[in-house]
Amino acid sequence: MSTETFEFQVEARQLLQLMIHSVYSNKDVFLRELVSNASDALDKLRLAALREDAPDADVSDLHIEIETDPEARTLTVRDNGIGMSYDEVGRLIGTIANSGTAQFVRELREAQDTGSAEGLIGQFGVGFYSGFMVADEMTLVTRRAGEAQGTRWSSRGEGTYTLEAVHDAPQGTSVTLHLKPADDEDKLHDYTSEWTVREIVKRYSDFITWPIRMTPKRGEGDDAAPAAETLNSMKALWARSRDEVSDDEYHELYKHISHDWREPLETVRLQAEGTFEYQALLFVPSHAPHDLYNQGYKRGVQLYVKRVFIMDDCEALLPPYLRFVKGVVDAADLSLNVSREILQQDRHIRMMQRRLTKKVVSTIKDMMTAAPDRYATFWREFGAVLKEGLLSDSDNRDALLAVSSFATTHSEDEPTTLRGYVERMKEGQDAVYYLTGESRQSIENSPHMEAFRAKGVEVLLLTDPVDEVWADVVGEFDGKPLRSVAKGEVDLDGESGEQADGEREKQSEEYAGLLAWMNERLDEDVKEVRLSSRLTVSPACIVSDANDLTPALENMYRAMGQ
Ligand code: ADP
Ligand code: MG
Repeated sequence: MSTETFEFQVEARQLLQLMIHSVYSNKDVFLRELVSNASDALDKLRLAALREDAPDADVSDLHIEIETDPEARTLTVRDNGIGMSYDEVGRLIGTIANSGTAQFVRELREAQDTGSAEGLIGQFGVGFYSGFMVADEMTLVTRRAGEAQGTRWSSRGEGTYTLEAVHDAPQGTSVTLHLKPADDEDKLHDYTSEWTVREIVKRYSDFITWPIRMTPKRGEGDDAAPAAETLNSMKALWARSRDEVSDDEYHELYKHISHDWREPLETVRLQAEGTFEYQALLFVPSHAPHDLYNQGYKRGVQLYVKRVFIMDDCEALLPPYLRFVKGVVDAADLSLNVSREILQQDRHIRMMQRRLTKKVVSTIKDMMTAAPDRYATFWREFGAVLKEGLLSDSDNRDALLAVSSFATTHSEDEPTTLRGYVERMKEGQDAVYYLTGESRQSIENSPHMEAFRAKGVEVLLLTDPVDEVWADVVGEFDGKPLRSVAKGEVDLDGESGEQADGEREKQSEEYAGLLAWMNERLDEDVKEVRLSSRLTVSPACIVSDANDLTPALENMYRAMGQ
């Protein structure tokens, strides 16, 4: 069969250019990426075999193998996992399917024009393509387990790649890097050196649960060929005790499962013993993915059963408002054939979800006191998602309110907790006031704010769409009602008593004619025109009844077709 030449998709080509010319300081991570892909491929094959989905596959000695050739200047990473079909290679390797990466490439190109790309490139995982940081040509030979024909993919990372059918490919995938010319000064980064490879594997891939083997080259005068060495300890990190594992090791696992190159913000461990045994190792990322609010967002927690990978994105393990959490849950007593539907109904899984939820929320709480800066990052990235839990999870509502913070008129840049607000409440103030809107600025300019500003009453400035809803549902904090500044009558003069009442009555009489006339003229448009103490400068404003939907919420429901 002939060789076909294809063009890379535009974003893929741009990414490759960036990789090739990258000044990314830590090029070693390409090996982590290739090993990570190999490990995923082995996971997939084992699971298919356990589920009897891969009758013709060979699962007798699943492993990863690394081979170096200093003369030819090549490095090969090989696995005997699931492999790819001809079509899959074109689809998976020729394009950037992940729209987040495509977006990143655009950002990166802009940053490159302004000279700030160096910091950015280290923040995103680009998987397979990272090989082009160290290679001027990559060749991949693969055969899908159970299929007869293999495929060879090859590219110099420029604009095109070639695909060709091959007949003698072993099951699985091997990726060969033709390394760029050697830098004689730089022995530490000579990827044809067995020592270098061993160090990199230990540093980045030790926890991979498949053996990563390398056969040392036969030395001068050796009779027999040396035996293959296993480079990694293969111990599942979540099954090891806390003091045996370094933070760096945890972080490498995070990068493997999340495909994020940045450090996580927080690591959460849980070991449950008893009738339903499980181990969890969860991570709070340091950045929200751009698609966190999309319909098809993939949740990050993987399910294992006794060290065997079962599924990605297991949505039964955590509630939707914690969908940004990544990690691994390894349960001892589940069937390997367990399906998503079964998990949703399983009593033990529901108990596990409750416990994991509490653990994550209490971790956030600890972060609030122990590491305010980290908490601030957390809240900026994930606060809006977490607040969804105020609606959906009444069991944890109080705990979630306690870790929530809000922009406030009290401070330009420091958000406040509800506790902080209540502590600052004025004598006689009986409610927590808030106003929702599109931005801090639009809220501050609202006529509704005038009287509050004049009287120095603090108002929470809520700008996330979910704020409209939770404030209504939650209703109160610490016995104080949450009250929208834009709804119903506000009585900020409560404390000044009878004198104000007298004055109001006098005004009502004075303006009775005008109000009657206005009520009549505006009958079609508004329910009532009345005098108000909420304004100081503006002559009039529109308010909703206390029980009405706010305009933003009305829009939201309308958009949802309700
Ligand atoms: P990611 O791992 O984040 O999906 P990569 O660029 O690392 O992105 O890989 C792209 C895709 O190519 C993988 O999702 C996988 O489907 C496929 N792939 C890469 N390496 C292998 C391999 N060794 N075996 C099977 N499939 C692979
Ligand atoms: Mg990958």
